[in-house]
Amino acid sequence: MRFLVDLHTHTVASDHAYSTVNDYVMQADKSGIAMFAVTDHGPDLEDAPHKWHFGNLHVIPHVVDNIAILRGIEANIRADGTLDLDDVYLNRLDIVLAGFHPNIDKLDEAEYTRLMVKVIESGKVDIVSHIGNPRYPVDYKTILECAKANNVAIELNSSSGINTRKGSHDNCVKVAKLAKEIGNTISLGSDAHVCYFLGNFKETDKVIEESGLGYDHIINTSPMKVLDFLESRGHEPIESLHNLFTLY
Ligand SMILES: [Zn+2]
Ligand SMILES: [Zn+2]
Repeated sequence: MRFLVDLHTHTVASDHAYSTVNDYVMQADKSGIAMFAVTDHGPDLEDAPHKWHFGNLHVIPHVVDNIAILRGIEANIRADGTLDLDDVYLNRLDIVLAGFHPNIDKLDEAEYTRLMVKVIESGKVDIVSHIGNPRYPVDYKTILECAKANNVAIELNSSSGINTRKGSHDNCVKVAKLAKEIGNTISLGSDAHVCYFLGNFKETDKVIEESGLGYDHIINTSPMKVLDFLESRGHEPIESLHNLFTLY
């Protein structure tokens, strides 16, 4: 299956990433990607952009050279179960990912699970990122059932075990098998930190194959499926993208 949408990328706004938004637009055309989300790290990480970065994302057009761009964030979950961006900025974004990153101290599985449940139930997050990371263990059944009940998507991350987060693969297969059972919405992200990795779903393809997860769970199969999902979460419809994708 060729996926037309990549919902997790980082630009030069995060210092440990190396491509601009325009680099991604040009690469999208080469890689057959119709839509991608710009999801730089929330301000709590050492090399993340200032909060104004997220406040000003509206200057990026939703459509450039017929490629669709979603303005987003990969927010950090804090030790009190909140996110590292104020609602006034979060509310302006098209898509909100959140996950565990090194801003948080070492906790146990029960505590990570409790924090992630709190974030899912807050209604502020559309997708939880790379939950298969062995560094931040969570109880998958609790998280997936909570995500299902709250219409939050579970990410399968295609950098996990490849570029970073070694040891994620078997966990991701477990997550995907359980998601199949529970009926979760699944989001795929390359987590590209350089444009050449945009739309690289080699790792998630393996996870999908090994788990037997059906494509009907995965929103990246069509841009309209992504827009429908985001609107079902309460985001305003983006007219220019609806116009663009009536062609598909
Ligand atoms: Zn991340
Ligand atoms: Zn990321």
